Amino acid sequence: MLVYSEKEIRGFVLSLPLVHPFRTSFGEERERKFILVMAKKGEKKGWGEVVAGEAPLYSEETLASAKYMLENYLFPLALSCELDPICFEKEARSFRGNPMAKAGISLALWDLRGKREGKPLWKIYGGSRREIPSGVSVGIQPSLDGLLGRIEGFVKEGYLRVKVKIKLGWDCEVVKKVREAFPYLPLGADANSAYRKENMERLLCFEEADLLFLEQPLYPDDLYYHSKLQRLTKTPLALDESIRSVRLMETGYYMGSFSIVNIKVGRMGGIGEVLKAAEFASQKGIPLFCGGMLESGIGRAHNLHIASLEPFVLPADLSQTSRYYTQDITRPFTFSRPGYIEIPEGDGIGVEPEAGVFEKRIIEKF
Ligand SMILES: [Mg+2]
Repeated sequence: MLVYSEKEIRGFVLSLPLVHPFRTSFGEERERKFILVMAKKGEKKGWGEVVAGEAPLYSEETLASAKYMLENYLFPLALSCELDPICFEKEARSFRGNPMAKAGISLALWDLRGKREGKPLWKIYGGSRREIPSGVSVGIQPSLDGLLGRIEGFVKEGYLRVKVKIKLGWDCEVVKKVREAFPYLPLGADANSAYRKENMERLLCFEEADLLFLEQPLYPDDLYYHSKLQRLTKTPLALDESIRSVRLMETGYYMGSFSIVNIKVGRMGGIGEVLKAAEFASQKGIPLFCGGMLESGIGRAHNLHIASLEPFVLPADLSQTSRYYTQDITRPFTFSRPGYIEIPEGDGIGVEPEAGVFEKRIIEKF
């Protein structure tokens, strides 16, 4: 008799139009194209999202490079690991880089594990929070009045923290005006590496605005000048692009390069690395927040489960679905009370792509 294990792994490229174009120091996005990974064993399916964009702007990974990695290296590896997330993450270390492609599979395999064990992921991760405090990231706007208007709308909706995207020329004056208009708002500013060591002193202008944090002002690979800047300024620095592994988080911590870390599973290559980062943060008392990459409901649900971990004490970049998409591929996320999103309670991530909408958004299968 032929005995075979019924397991499969597939990729889907999807496209979702954004409610508002999202502008950062990199450029503008109007729709989001991304990859979903589906891992299936027996009757259970797990889902993960690859957050790489079409162009190598946030990092060097792209949709095309991620697809190449998945098809040629990572899908075969996941199958040889019998779709076990711990085996996959360990074996995937033999391939350099490509954290977003690796994370897409890691997430799908953890979701599959949760669904097979009949447990929500936050419980498997050892999370301690059931509702996640929600912040919002506001892109660079055509005018200052436009920015103030959008922030006012978000504050009325109940968001607990606002982060504004900045770049040279849309920075000191903008943040000052936002602070004048909203004196008590927990406020952050994210530069996505738009500054150079030569204009580091300009960043001292934010001290007056009493920011909760200034995020990633300098080059991603520059922990040294970030440590000089952190010594120069009272504003807490939060690092995002720089922290690609627990190893870099430790280096940055011992160099004094940051006060806060923005954790994104896509940047760190998978859940295993994020769990280790949370453990290190917990030992050293480093406050974390969970970042976002304009994820669909699949990626957002995963982020909510991750943000349940104890050191994620700051409001996450996890907003209500209406802030991003008119119609998502999963059920929408809304506030359970102003400023908080509940972690979905079902097995695994607790949500699934909804058949009708999901099929309509697929542009390629592999
Ligand atoms: Mg950022």
